Amino acid sequence: MFYVGIECNILLLLDKACYSMHEWALAEAILKSAEQIAEQENLKEVTEVTIKVGELQQIEPPILRFALNQMKPDNFKKAKFHILKAKSTLKCRVCGNAWQFNFKKLDKETAEAIHFVPEVAHTYIKCPKCGSPDFEIASGRGVWLEDLKGVKC
Ligand SMILES: [Zn+2]
Repeated sequence: MFYVGIECNILLLLDKACYSMHEWALAEAILKSAEQIAEQENLKEVTEVTIKVGELQQIEPPILRFALNQMKPDNFKKAKFHILKAKSTLKCRVCGNAWQFNFKKLDKETAEAIHFVPEVAHTYIKCPKCGSPDFEIASGRGVWLEDLKGVKC
């Protein structure tokens, strides 16, 4: 019996599927993928699950964690769920420049406005290279199953 870590990096949800996705449905999708991997890798027990959530994804981590804990199968009973936030990447439509943007650096009110209506970002953020407000959010939404740790029999 020994511990193993498995890198998964599986994209569970794309940007467009996210709007109607609730924490409970997402928890179900996460557990389903995690169970499949646990089975493939012959894990007797899963001890840690790391999930990466785009920082603009409208998911409440405490609700997601609660849902995961309520729905987890027997071989996940001791599992801890880590929910990480992934940074956003923005891409300028004028000059093609792409840059990472940390939404945490904005003041709270602005960050909240952007969180609920990502399109609001265009009012506050400009391309650092050419100054254009015309950019797209290349990444920032989506949910990934990042890795699993468990006990192999
Ligand atoms: Zn630009």
